[in-house]
Amino acid sequence: MRAVSVHPDVIVVTSLLWQTTATAIRSGEEAMLVDSPYFPEELALLPTLLEEAGFQPDALLATHADFDHLLGRLAFPDLSLGVGEETMHRLRAEPGQAQRDLRAADAEHYVSRPRPLGLGPVQALPVPGHVAVGEEEVELHPAEGHTGDGTLVFARWAGVLVCGDYLSDVEIPMIAPGGSLEGYRATLARLAPLVEAAERAVPGHGAPHARDAALAILDEDLAYLDALERGDLRPSLPEGRDTARQRRVHAENLAQLGG
Ligand SMILES: [Zn+2]
Repeated sequence: MRAVSVHPDVIVVTSLLWQTTATAIRSGEEAMLVDSPYFPEELALLPTLLEEAGFQPDALLATHADFDHLLGRLAFPDLSLGVGEETMHRLRAEPGQAQRDLRAADAEHYVSRPRPLGLGPVQALPVPGHVAVGEEEVELHPAEGHTGDGTLVFARWAGVLVCGDYLSDVEIPMIAPGGSLEGYRATLARLAPLVEAAERAVPGHGAPHARDAALAILDEDLAYLDALERGDLRPSLPEGRDTARQRRVHAENLAQLGG
């Protein structure tokens, strides 16, 4: 697990699995944790790591309902989880799905956990909307397309935009069940001015980027979506993302759109 400070009040922790990010955003004495690392040891260490950096989260937020973003309560069992309304719909429509997906991933990676995932009380938040953190407010913007749900979290005062599974430097756009090409394009169009207004963009998987790097990825992702829409079987993938694994993601995207 790596931790980098991208602003005096924002720290990004990156999991060793899938480079999944968790972002703590602070204002005054209050802090919010967005998304989560994966491994049990990382989750166990997270409260101490954040506290040593002066962050004590009093709220959890998940960018979307994919299980790898929902693990915050394994680190902070007393905190409740806030999610966008669409994510709440998904959690209600698919009860137990996150737990099943987590068990499957754990089995795949030979990971054992001290206790199973309980989501606890989940609070639905209006998106678009705002949530208070101390004296400040983070903005919530919709982010559909990767899945049917999704929330972009923008700490405008700190210039940090937390994107969920968009603008990754390690993953091509992934159209999962519930997602759509049109939705993905709409989210990228929504992201462009937000990235312009930000100093840093934090993808759900990969490294935090400065504004220009994030805009370059946005362009690459638009080009990829064009190739996907044409049905290209072997499109050129962006540098750093042309891997066997991302070729499989592309094949899954084609199957998802075709089926
Ligand atoms: Zn993810």
